[in-house]
Amino acid sequence: MAEINKFLIERLTNRFKQKFDHPPLAVARAPGRVNLLGEHVDYNDGFVMPAAIQRATYVAFSPSPGWVSTLRSEDFAGEELTFTRESLPAKIQDDASPLPGWGLYPAGVAWVFLQHGLPVIPIQAVFASDVPRGAGLSSSASVEAAFCTAWHHLGGLNLPLMEQAALCLEAEDRYVGVHCGIMDQFASLCGVENRLLQLDCRSLEWSLLHLPEDISILIADTRIPHSLNTSAYNQRRQECEKAVQLLQVNLPSIRSLRDVSRDELEQYAGSLPIAVGMRAGHVVEEIHRTREAKICLESGNAAGFGGLMNACHASLRDLYEVSCPELDLMVEIAQSLPGCLGARLTGAGFGGSTVNLVKNSQAEDFVNHLKTAYYQKTGLSAEVFITPASAGAGIV
Ligand code: ADP
Ligand code: MG
Repeated sequence: MAEINKFLIERLTNRFKQKFDHPPLAVARAPGRVNLLGEHVDYNDGFVMPAAIQRATYVAFSPSPGWVSTLRSEDFAGEELTFTRESLPAKIQDDASPLPGWGLYPAGVAWVFLQHGLPVIPIQAVFASDVPRGAGLSSSASVEAAFCTAWHHLGGLNLPLMEQAALCLEAEDRYVGVHCGIMDQFASLCGVENRLLQLDCRSLEWSLLHLPEDISILIADTRIPHSLNTSAYNQRRQECEKAVQLLQVNLPSIRSLRDVSRDELEQYAGSLPIAVGMRAGHVVEEIHRTREAKICLESGNAAGFGGLMNACHASLRDLYEVSCPELDLMVEIAQSLPGCLGARLTGAGFGGSTVNLVKNSQAEDFVNHLKTAYYQKTGLSAEVFITPASAGAGIV
């Protein structure tokens, strides 16, 4: 099991005892994730290369003696909510008041379980997370995966991890109403210690890759939340669909940008509106980069992998246009520091975090210099931390 946050677990356990007068049956943990390469390609049938991170959501839970589930969120000022299987479809609580925003994620998982005929044992739960929220590290998927793990455990189920990831995605898509790809939930559930994951978003086949042992993954949260990007994200998706539609005139067999080669795009780019051509350019090159990246890792070429991360950032900034000045600055500073092999924005963009590959021996200096230089230029205190690639969701 990954290194767990014992302090948080103890806090949750104490709070649980205080509230419910008995210790929790168990604690579920589900990590956030960081994507190292393959950005904005999940909804284009491409390849992504995430790792689960050490930061995670923890849920202390027990079965509830009655029909009502009671959840308490330590991170939202100890707010509490209740629901029953009857109240779930209307997104309301047992007393008919609306579920709070944070409650939609766990309630959505329960609702999806019921939609699939799976058991949902009423639950008593107290939960908290050390994944920064809205920072592009998928705190939302970690909440879903932690509750999925709890209900999976209580129901005595034995579902494959990818099926659980699909249930969590369905909760976010159909219940919360955020339309994203499966990468986040996949990484939170299927993460493996000290490994990168490579997921083929078309076939959902996945494999494990090694990062060289002398390299650390560093995350830098710009402290610019990405929460206002929904319309721009949907617009990018539409532009990719438009590109496929227009390219099908000359390439009738393509189903997504995954099926378009670099040569074909070069040949037919002239038939696309400028912005659409730029988006397609990013996607086709990025899918190519993920193929190259796999070769780099298989041959232990960390510097080559880092170079692809740098190219990915430039492409997200110039072609896909999903960066922002703070992300660009954070990446620029990182790339100028000794020991840095690659740096780029991670997640959907418009704020959130960067991911950096740094030589172990220089990682601590890197953290200090990056924080200081970023503060000097922006007045913002970035959170910068090293994370091992962690195990996926489980009972701790
Ligand atoms: P992220 O990139 O972190 O996934 P999202 O906007 O997708 O950002 O999800 C953030 C939302 O997920 C929060 O606004 C909240 O509703 C829910 N959430 C995340 N972490 C927690 C937590 N620790 N406790 C309660 N709700 C959480
Ligand atoms: Mg999210």
